[in-house]
Amino acid sequence: MLDPRTTTHDDLRSGTGPWRPGLQRPPGRPLERDMRCDVAIVGAGITGAFLAEHLSARGLEVVVIDREREGFGSTAASTAMLQWEIDLSLRDLAALYGFERAAEIYRLSFEAVGGLARLVGELALPCGFARRETVYLAAGEIGPRELIEEAALRERAGLPGQYLEHAALLSGFGFDRAGAIVSPGSAEADPLCLCHGLLAAAARRGARLVRDEVVAYDDAGRAAAVSLSGGATVEAAHLVLATGYVMPDCVSDDLHEMASSWAIATVPQPPQALWRGRALVWEASRDYCYSRTTPDGRIIFGGGETYSRRDPADIFAFVRRHLLKVYPALAGTRIDHAWGGTLAVTVNRLPFLRRVRPGIYAASGYSGQGVALAPFGGKIIAEAILGNPGRLDSFAALPCPRFPGGKLLRWPALVAGMSWYALRDRI
Ligand SMILES: Cc1cc2nc3c(=O)[nH]c(=O)nc-3n(C[C@H](O)[C@H](O)[C@H](O)COP(=O)(O)OP(=O)(O)OC[C@H]3O[C@@H](n4cnc5c(N)ncnc54)[C@H](O)[C@@H]3O)c2cc1C
Repeated sequence: MLDPRTTTHDDLRSGTGPWRPGLQRPPGRPLERDMRCDVAIVGAGITGAFLAEHLSARGLEVVVIDREREGFGSTAASTAMLQWEIDLSLRDLAALYGFERAAEIYRLSFEAVGGLARLVGELALPCGFARRETVYLAAGEIGPRELIEEAALRERAGLPGQYLEHAALLSGFGFDRAGAIVSPGSAEADPLCLCHGLLAAAARRGARLVRDEVVAYDDAGRAAAVSLSGGATVEAAHLVLATGYVMPDCVSDDLHEMASSWAIATVPQPPQALWRGRALVWEASRDYCYSRTTPDGRIIFGGGETYSRRDPADIFAFVRRHLLKVYPALAGTRIDHAWGGTLAVTVNRLPFLRRVRPGIYAASGYSGQGVALAPFGGKIIAEAILGNPGRLDSFAALPCPRFPGGKLLRWPALVAGMSWYALRDRI
């Protein structure tokens, strides 16, 4: 079990990714004396950063508290594919909640990624942000029939995209698969720079970044208060727990399960080695894999919730097999970065957004989409803080299937004990 008191960034991820700290990163500072604010956010990963930017832009006095370097938790492990397509297909989500609710969630996610694109433009954040198409490939148990059905449901929901059959996919993208859904409206970024840029924007509006550990929560009074290990107290009208995978005991639940995932990045490739439009490519199968590119031409490739892979040789064989199947030209290319990190997965692949007590909110459990869905969750929590809890209440009321057997933890062996260096070889 992850102990919220002792889990550090080094427990959450290992190895090194290609991301660079944002140049504008405002450093957190210890708090000398007690203070009050409108909103205290615990956790300065992408979830906390997005909320801090959003709420400070609306004139609220915000304090963001993190016990370690901002953004260097799970956020730094992300491959930052900012897809509006949720890990659970619209078809599967509709089977859980009915078509109208599922379509509404998908539309909200689509708007949230579009809103993030506008925000990055307005703030001129230097974070490698680029709009991208997604190519959702048929694989494993999801074949053309299922993808055609999914494309039809998306069209009915008012979402963009089209199904491409084998010949069109091969001639358009060079992917030799039975079919795919190609959709506009997603994006990519450097997650660390994005997180730091959002925090810097919040700080310019007066948000305060505190480097300290929250050791106690108190919701007995009219406001919520947190005690810091340095001795000071922050009292806030609203408190948001954006602590990633180290949720305090008061929000323990059996809706998440912790899993691990990994990714690699190749050395920079010449432009002709990359596919059309540098789309975000992902597979529909259960044991899926995905890829994107970086501004300097690296190919990032990752596996889904492949927690059973704990051996570098096993991961290397998987990378080789899958990458070469889709991009045969990569034979002989060197892997430059390899890393792993945690995922808090929910059965419905939707974030865990709740009011856990009056004035105290939780935003976590983002499955493999915490960077993409941070604006989605942040907007819903922010609406509630600003006095309009309708969407949060209806989101929280969705019956969430539980993992059989309750909360599991399957990740630390992979992340903590992995020799990532062994993966830095030629494919
Ligand atoms: C290999 C991999 C690939 C991924 N790829 C993608 C992807 O392509 N797209 C995508 O959208 N998502 C992806 N994700 C998921 C994404 O990285 C996470 O969902 C997201 O970063 C979670 O951000 P967070 O802010 O909630 O958590 P974190 O970044 O972990 O931030 C939480 C912060 O809370 C702080 N904290 C905790 N407890 C306390 C305390 N008591 N006091 C003070 N501070 C505290 C921690 O120090 C930490 O900095 C991927 C994840 C992995 C592992």
